[in-house]
Order: sequence, then structure tokens, then C-alpha cells
Amino acid sequence: MKRTKIVDVLKSTVCDIDVLVKGWVRTRRGNKMVSFIALNDGSVIHNLQIVVDNNNFDEELLKKITTGAAIAVTGRLVQSQGKGQNVEVQASSIEVYGTADVETYPLQKKGHSLEFLREIAHLRPRTNTFGAVFRIRHNMAMAIHTFFHQKGFFYFHTPIITASDCEGAGQMFQVTTKNLYDLKKDENGSIIYDDDFFGKQASLTVSGQLEGELAAMALGAIYTFGPTFRAENSNTPRHLAEFWMIEPEVAFNDIVDNMDLAEEFIKYCVQWALDNCRDDIQFLNDMFDKGLIERLEGVLKESFVRLPYTEGIKILETAVANGHKFEFPIYWGADLASEHERYLVEEHFNKPVILTDYPKEIKAFYMKQNEDGKTVRAMDVLFPKIGEIIGGSEREADYDKLLNRINELNIPMKDMWWYLDTRRFGSCPHSGFGLGFERLLLFVTGMANIRDVIPFPRTPKNAEF
Ligand code: ATP
Ligand code: MN
Repeated sequence: MKRTKIVDVLKSTVCDIDVLVKGWVRTRRGNKMVSFIALNDGSVIHNLQIVVDNNNFDEELLKKITTGAAIAVTGRLVQSQGKGQNVEVQASSIEVYGTADVETYPLQKKGHSLEFLREIAHLRPRTNTFGAVFRIRHNMAMAIHTFFHQKGFFYFHTPIITASDCEGAGQMFQVTTKNLYDLKKDENGSIIYDDDFFGKQASLTVSGQLEGELAAMALGAIYTFGPTFRAENSNTPRHLAEFWMIEPEVAFNDIVDNMDLAEEFIKYCVQWALDNCRDDIQFLNDMFDKGLIERLEGVLKESFVRLPYTEGIKILETAVANGHKFEFPIYWGADLASEHERYLVEEHFNKPVILTDYPKEIKAFYMKQNEDGKTVRAMDVLFPKIGEIIGGSEREADYDKLLNRINELNIPMKDMWWYLDTRRFGSCPHSGFGLGFERLLLFVTGMANIRDVIPFPRTPKNAEF
């Protein structure tokens, strides 16, 4: 007989047929006569109830069916008499693939803290919570690819190892095959990279944007979706050293087109989650975050506020004048901290905000400069509970302006010639942004810590598993 997944068994409209199911035992309870096994195979959050007439089975076999054991069950699918499920399986034969020792299997009882589960990240996908999170994670990846594919964007693969350290988005991890115990240095004490693998200093990428721009200037509209690395030492609930980023880049889009795209994109993903991950989201809503579904539906209803940075600062300064306390000072020119972003979104407007036209000093060199000489056409999308979920901009398309900014910031030209070539040959207005995949997942799952939406988080002093 062919195995049926539990997700399909539970959807079955026919009864009194034989089925073969395989999965892991969540619980076994019952009495001398009968056992009830809650079986889960990861295909869906719900368990399938297996009813076992103990008299028909060997006692030694039944003893092995404990929480965590992997089993196969053949039996009759019937309408359930009990509460909590429509159907159940009356076991006719059971095979135990792998036992799980009652004394040592860590997921014995329910209700472990998320902190503890992080320490057993190799087992936590077997919990309801992480099963839900990782099924949603998969679904969001599908939503993202579907969204861009339907819009005619091309999925473009930018390199993960890069030799330009000018991306300017954060501290980079170095990639080397050199013997770190025995480094050759020149007379100034600088490391000689000539004999290193790439013949020069190389790192893990912090963003695929620069290469993404090259592609947009040829294919028109592209997106990247890949791992990104930042060695910033920020131990926060919203930062990882290794995270996944989605970066669309579109030729001929200006900043308004860019904002429209970002808003449509996020709403599409949220709608997808509500349509396709309902059971998992309902579970997370009930267990962790009673406002989750309401917040997801709220985002779909609202038009995002679009507000210049300068206006945002005025609102925050007014809040301070009226007695609101922030940890970090706020003034024109300051980079917004998460507390400021969340004040605008959660307290002032009560809906997502796209903040635009930031001071050029706090933004990257490639952003289009405004006529005022002070600000650039940047846009950050700020979300409830998250703060910044997207950062993007219209790009500077003018060769001279871009070169000036590169010189002002002392960015080495040897790294930039290929990027500047886009502005020498057929330059055009273009825009793009980066969405942090795990920040989107924080929003959609309602989880509070970014370590709980990626299978194996990498953070300062932590690279377990
Ligand atoms: P933040 O100010 O929150 O540190 P950033 O301004 O450095 O973020 P960008 O360089 O604009 O981030 O990156 C684009 C997007 O990538 C961000 O909007 C965010 O969603 C995500 N992101 C950035 N850094 C991280 C990180 N360390 N871990 C997870 N996601 C991140
Ligand atoms: Mn940013």
C-alpha cells in the first residue's frame, strides 16, 4: 500500500478505506484495553488519532510506541466518535522504525520555553510551534517567487563571495584559505593577499544589489533571493549574522514606482499566508500572539503612509516635547532607532509607514540625490512590531554625481569601475529595495525573536548545528 500524508488523510471525504500512514508519535494515552496515539508527520499541524486495540498487539511492540518514536500504521480510516477530530485510524498493523527513549528524548512534555528549544534546534522542528513556523517559511518563499514570476521579473543569482568591500551595508566576514597562524605581511604591516585563493581580499556578500543593478540594466526587472551575511555585533531580536534577503531591482522605476512595488509585494505575501497557512497562523495566534491575525488583516486593508523623513522627525520631536521618552536622542540627521520607527507606526499612524528622503549622510552612496543637496531618494518601509522591514531607494543614475559621492566617501575606485560602467553605458532611472526574509517572517508568524524564524540561527558567539 502507498503511504498517505496526514494532511491528505485529514482532508479525506471518504471513510471505511484502508490507509498507510507514517510519522512520529506525539503522545500515547489510554488504558489496558485501548491506546490512542497522536501521530504527526510534519505535513500539517494537526495530529492523526490512531486507535489501537491493545489485545491485537504484542505488549513489547506497544511499549516502544512512546513520544518521539517513528512508526508506520496500517488501518481503517473511520469517522471518529471522540471530540477533536473528524476521522481516526483503527490500527490493524504497526511497525516501529525508531524508538525514542523516554528518559532522554528532550521533547517529552509540552510547554518548553522558546529559549530552551533554541538549544535543541536540531529537534525543535518537531514541535507544533516550529513545524508551523517552517511551513510558513516555505510558503513565503513560494509566495515571493510566484509574485515576481507573475510580474515578469527574472530570478537572478548574484555572487555570495565578493571581492568588493564597498557595498557599505555592514561589516563583512572574510573568506580566505590563508593560514591564519602564519600571515605574510608587507613592510607596512598589511596582509599580503597575492597568494590567497582569490589573489585578493574576499568576503561574504552583505547585499546582492550592485550586481542586481547590472542585471536590471539588461533584463529590465530582476530579483535576488539568497543568503546574506553581516558581521555586525548587534545582539538584537531583529538581527542575524546570516539571513536571507530578497532584492528586486527595476529599470525605469522611480521612487514612487518603487514604493508601489514594495507595498503590493508585502500585501501579496501577507494575503498568501492567510490563504495558504491558515491553520499554522491560527495556532501561532492562539499560542503566542492574540493580535496576529488582526494585524495581518489590518495591513491588507490600509494604504501605507508615505512620509518624508523630515516630517517624521517633526512628529518624533513633538512626541518628545509632549513627554514621550525615547532611549536614543532624536534630531534631524539622526538615524532612526527601532523605538522611533515603532512610535511612528504603532502609536502615531497605527499603520505601516514608508519613510522617504533621508539625509544623505546616513544612507548609502548609490542613492539618488535630491535637488536640496541634503537628502536622497531613500525609502524604508516600517512595520508594526518589526520596525524596518524593507530598505530601498531610487538609484543615482548620473555618472558625475555618483562619482562625486564615491570620491567624497573615499570608496576605492578599483572596486567600483564595473558598477560605474552602468552609468557610462545606457544609464537610466532605476530603483530597488531589499526585504529581509526573516523580518517578513517575524511579521507573518508573530514570533518575537528572529532566532525563532530561521532553522539554525547564526548570531554573535553562536553557530551551533
Ligand atoms: P537595520 O537598520 O534594521 O539594521 P539595515 O538598514 O542595516 O537594517 P539594509 O541594509 O537596508 O538594512 O538591508 C535591507 C533589509 O534587510 C532590511 O530592511 C532588513 O529587513 C534586512 N536586514 C538587514 N540587516 C539584517 C540582519 N542583520 N538580520 C536580519 N535582517 C536584516
Ligand atoms: Mn536599511
